[in-house]
Amino acid sequence: MDLVQLQHKIRVVHDFPEPGISFKDITTLLCDGESFQYAVQQISEFGRPRDVDLVVGPEARGFVLGAPTAYALGVGFVPIRKPGKLPGETIRKDYQLEYGHDGLEMHADAIKPGQRVFIVDDLLATGGTIQSCIDLVLRAGGIVVGLGFLIELQYLEGRKHLAGYETFSLLQYA
Ligand code: 5GP
Repeated sequence: MDLVQLQHKIRVVHDFPEPGISFKDITTLLCDGESFQYAVQQISEFGRPRDVDLVVGPEARGFVLGAPTAYALGVGFVPIRKPGKLPGETIRKDYQLEYGHDGLEMHADAIKPGQRVFIVDDLLATGGTIQSCIDLVLRAGGIVVGLGFLIELQYLEGRKHLAGYETFSLLQYA
């Protein structure tokens, strides 16, 4: 398995979910065992030397990659969810969308102050989602020791907003 083979497993769907968007569908990679395992291994190898205490991942594709990364590193996993889904006391981050706004929530007691957190998601686009995740982790007292993505859409320049954070992406679209 190499990166060229892996990239071929991603299905690019034009005009989804709306005209003009070229959506990177990772389900075609996930259903191939060798590709899925390779992707998780590579993201985990980035996290391993960072002395990670916890992996955090946002709903929903951040669960699919974040949970096996946590398992590979032998650490816990903390989900970040859309509002109203988590049963315990939560902290919340609201953010603007092109039309309207949305939010993300995390359990207030999920991270202990000083814990070293690796945030994992499937894809870095504008960076809005990961910035909200960083905000929640910092407010809980966590230390963000790395950001890991399967895919980075470099043309959206999300990385510009992530200066100061060790950021890894396995596959890039220029
Ligand atoms: P951002 O907040 O960086 O603009 O968008 C990243 C978030 O939107 C990620 O959580 C990701 O799951 C989702 N996302 C945006 N575009 C795509 C795409 O083309 N493919 C996939 N799989 N997810 C996307």
